[in-house]
Formats: sequence, C-alpha cells, structure tokens
Amino acid sequence: MADHTTIVIIGAGVIGLTTGLRLLATTDQAKYRIIIVSREWPTSIPGAPVNHSVNYASMWAGAHMRPIPASTPQLQREAAWLKHAARTFEEQIRQTPSIGVTKCKGIELLEAPTAGYEQQTAESFFSESGLNNYRKYSQAELPPGVRLGFEYDTYCVNAPVYCANLLRSFILQGGRCMQRDLSSEWEASSIAPNVSLVVNASGMGFGDKKCFPIRGQTVLTDLSAVTKTVTKQKRDGTWSFIIPRFFEGGTVVGGTKQPGDWTAQPILSTRSSVLSEGRKIAEFASDSSAGSNDVRVIADIVGRRPMREGGMRVEVEHPYGTSVKGQSSMTRIVHAYGAGGRGFEISWGVAEEVASLVKATLLIKDSIIQAKL
Ligand SMILES: Cc1cc2nc3c(=O)[nH]c(=O)nc-3n(C[C@H](O)[C@H](O)[C@H](O)COP(=O)(O)OP(=O)(O)OC[C@H]3O[C@@H](n4cnc5c(N)ncnc54)[C@H](O)[C@@H]3O)c2cc1C
Repeated sequence: MADHTTIVIIGAGVIGLTTGLRLLATTDQAKYRIIIVSREWPTSIPGAPVNHSVNYASMWAGAHMRPIPASTPQLQREAAWLKHAARTFEEQIRQTPSIGVTKCKGIELLEAPTAGYEQQTAESFFSESGLNNYRKYSQAELPPGVRLGFEYDTYCVNAPVYCANLLRSFILQGGRCMQRDLSSEWEASSIAPNVSLVVNASGMGFGDKKCFPIRGQTVLTDLSAVTKTVTKQKRDGTWSFIIPRFFEGGTVVGGTKQPGDWTAQPILSTRSSVLSEGRKIAEFASDSSAGSNDVRVIADIVGRRPMREGGMRVEVEHPYGTSVKGQSSMTRIVHAYGAGGRGFEISWGVAEEVASLVKATLLIKDSIIQAKL
C-alpha cells in the first residue's frame, strides 16, 4: 500500500463522481489509489452534514438532457460531451436499471427561436446529440404564442438517487472518500501521502473570477402523471419546464435562471408563477391530471448552477505556472469545473476528457521520474 500513488478528486457532485468512476476504470489500481475529498456528499458519510447547501448544485438539478444547437465552439464542445453522456446513459439503463436514469420523451416549445433552432433538422439534431426520433410540430399542433416546437427521445435523471448510486459504485469499485472543506485546490495535495495529481471538480473552482452562480428556483411537486420533460423558452427570456423525477421522486416544475443572484431562500411569489406556467405546459404534454389545481408542493428548491464565462475549465495546470520539466515531484491539477446548467447531461463526456488528461499527465510525470533514475 505504501507504494501507491494517490489521485485526489475534489468534489462529490456529478462531475467528481463520474470522473472518479472513469478513473477507476482507466487507471491501474495496483499502482494508483483514488480518493474523493469533499465538503458535501450525496448521502451522509461519517462527519458529513446531512442537509445540503444551495451551493451543492447536483442535489438540486432537474435533471434532463436537453441538446442545444451547436452554433458556437463552446456549444460544439458541450455537444460532443453530451453525445458521449447519452451513450453512457443508454448503457446504464440496460446494465443497472435502478441507477436513476430514465428514457422518456422530451418536448421543446420556443416563442422566439434562434436561427440554430430554426435550421435544425432530424439529421443535424441526431448528429449533434445522438438522440433519436426528432419531430418538428406543425403550426396546428403548437400552443398559442409558440413559433417552434419539437420532440425527441431523451433521458431524465433523478439527481439525488443517481448521485448516491454513483457514490456507491465508486466505493464498491475501490474508491476512497474523505470529508474535508478545502481552502485551495493545492491543499488537496496534502491530504494523503504521495499525491501525484488532483482533479478539481469543485463546481465553482477556488476564486476563479470567471465563475458565478445562476440561481435556480424550482418546485418539487407530486405531479406523478407527468412522464415527459417539457421546456418552454419564452420571448421575454424566461423559462418554464417540467422534469419528472422517475423512481417516485415527484416532478420538478421550474423555474428561474438568475445570473449572479445569491438569494438562498425560496421566494413564494416565484413559486406561484412557476407553478401556474408549469401547469400550462404540463397540459400541453397531455398528462391528464397534470393541469389540475390541487398540485401538492413537496419542497421549494433553490440551487446555484456553477457557471463559468467561456464554458467549463477542463485543462491541466502545473504548479506555480511552471512547465512540466524539473517539477516532477510536484502535484499537477486537472481542472473540471464550471458546468453551469448542464453538468448531468455532459458529465460522461467531461469525465472522458479529464481521464485522458490525467493519463497523459501521469505518463509525462512517470517518464521524467524514470529519466532521473
Ligand atoms: C435548479 C437547477 C436545475 C438544473 N437542471 C439541470 C438539468 O436539467 N440538466 C443538467 O445537466 N444540469 C442541470 N443543472 C446543473 C447541474 O446541477 C450542475 O451543472 C452540476 O450539478 C454541477 O456539478 P459539479 O459536480 O460540477 O458541482 P456540484 O454539484 O456543485 O459539486 C461540487 C462538489 O465540490 C465540493 N466542494 C466545493 N468546494 C469545496 C471545498 N472548498 N472543499 C471541499 N469540497 C468542495 C462540494 O461539496 C460538492 O461536493 C441544474 C442545476 C440547478 C441548480
């Protein structure tokens, strides 16, 4: 055991957990020990608080897979990650049906679609996302005020159930866990002997000025008849969506997207408007009981999407900005934070990219060490 080299992953959100599983599958466990160190966890481990903060985004996500036309380099990068995640979700459903992912119909309704949406076809949609059965609605099928609508096959994730299952798999496959609130990503190199590399999957990073929260207020309801996920993008820039949390988790009705808003408490007037808009789109999805007035609120949800200007930071950082040469004994950081509102739907693509960066970085380190011997 003493000869092990340690890889530390900061964060037990969907990005840290997925990366942990990918690293267990792709690194030699006889040589490398993998530890997740985190302030918050999906389920209680000794010493971890039982309640989750608004900062722990993965506990508050809907979470559905909703492709966005890949009209910019950043969106193209995210589309490739999403396509990878879609393939993995399909495999997970086949191999572990109880993991917390469900295949269902997705519906999009847009009052003022961008050119990317207008130009989309079943072929371009499939090539960007890997998702099947795209169908544009005719004008006669659309509700008043909506200019473009379409449906496709997609996936919904029961976020808390799924994250708990990822953590369980990580532990069963030999991963280790440590509860700790770190002051810096570099501090992670001191939590165990012989730390060679740290993956920073801390959601918002440590003091990165490009990161900011996008507040999301949603309502968890008992709309159990809902079996499709529906999203409406309104002309005024606001959103309305319903996301079933299969596995008896109710239905998430949302919601707000408020950049830079740090309000941690739910606002009651927001709950009312979210529910009234949600009922309308639920009716459109023609789930019979969805439009009735006696919807029970299970919980008001507030979460902070960990957004980053320019997109996720997925890259290697060498200590103190120096090059690899001459720094063989020092820990490297592979950053993987700033997933914004897309962490679940891009998770497996991000984990794959992080795993290859980890592999390449360890190879370089090993070759420098060998050369010095
Ligand atoms: C209302 C809402 C709806 C959403 N809907 C969707 C959706 O439909 N589809 C989708 O794909 N995504 C959705 N998201 C976004 C998604 O939740 C995030 O993108 C995703 O959870 C980010 O995961 P993460 O692992 O990067 O960060 P987090 O889940 O925030 O995890 C960060 C981890 O790092 C740990 N950490 C942070 N700082 C420290 C420190 N100093 N020391 C130790 N540990 C630390 C935390 O404890 C935590 O374990 C939604 C988010 C919200 C809020």
